[in-house]
Amino acid sequence: MFESLSERLGGVFDRLTKQGALSEDDVRSALREVRVALLEADVSLPVARNFVKSVEKKATGAAVTKSVTPGQQVVKIVHDELIDVLRGEGEPGSLRIDSAPAPILMVGLQGGGKTTTTAKLAKRLKDRDGKKVLMASLDVNRPAAMEQLQILGTQIGVDTLPIVKGEDPVTIAKRAKTQASLGGYDVYMLDTAGRLSIDEELMAQVEAVRDVSNPRETLLVVDGLTGQDAVHTAENFDQRIGISGVVLTRMDGDGRGGAALSMRAITGKPIKFVGLGEKMDALETFEPERVAGRILG
Ligand code: GDP
Repeated sequence: MFESLSERLGGVFDRLTKQGALSEDDVRSALREVRVALLEADVSLPVARNFVKSVEKKATGAAVTKSVTPGQQVVKIVHDELIDVLRGEGEPGSLRIDSAPAPILMVGLQGGGKTTTTAKLAKRLKDRDGKKVLMASLDVNRPAAMEQLQILGTQIGVDTLPIVKGEDPVTIAKRAKTQASLGGYDVYMLDTAGRLSIDEELMAQVEAVRDVSNPRETLLVVDGLTGQDAVHTAENFDQRIGISGVVLTRMDGDGRGGAALSMRAITGKPIKFVGLGEKMDALETFEPERVAGRILG
């Protein structure tokens, strides 16, 4: 997930810890390399800049440079700062789904992994939390997408709302709500339509669905490989729709990981889950401590 960043930082910190005594200039020059490594990982510039500034403030004092193990202290400061930049409120992966039936709105661009993630999350809620889940596809322009959700539902043993031809997304959302109430479901998930890029028609449609369903969670599903674009997409969706969290997909790929590091700082929204493959159980909660550990190898 963060292989190249991890390798780069590993090189910088290896040198630093082997060096023994450190001057403030040594620390500053190492942090310049950290900044370059972050930018190469597609972390956005203000985030990389603030990150390094904050580490520098803590790492250039006498308490660090005059300590017995200055290099290790710097690494510890970087580690804690990484956790800080990654952390959201609450428990990792927690969802507000207490009031049954709780609606979860899934939004995002086409191809980002929305339908797959809807099913993965439904399976997780069923298997781990014992929730009764209903999934509904609102992608009326793409019958294949509606069928895809149905097929995944059968595969994971989660119910899907029967498809009625000719219905519009708002009507489907209302029907999902009725069905979820009558059927005693704990959660119902609305898999909205995606487009190749953000457009007015898409946003208006998602907004209308949001207004009739009053979602407890609105999760943006976005391709983690797209780096800063993923962050821009999140900003756009948040401004227009209001999102409660992000799911970064394709984090099993050799992406540079920058989206994970910038997302919280730029959008203020937590990453709740990461997608780590096409299989239905390839979804993990996003845990800042573990991610920081992975980045620092
Ligand atoms: P949607 O258009 O946003 O609904 O996207 P889909 O859910 O149809 O996903 C598009 C493609 O990405 C499918 O082939 C998925 O199997 C794949 N995909 C989704 N999530 C992941 C992931 O976390 N890792 C990998 N490697 N592939 C994924």
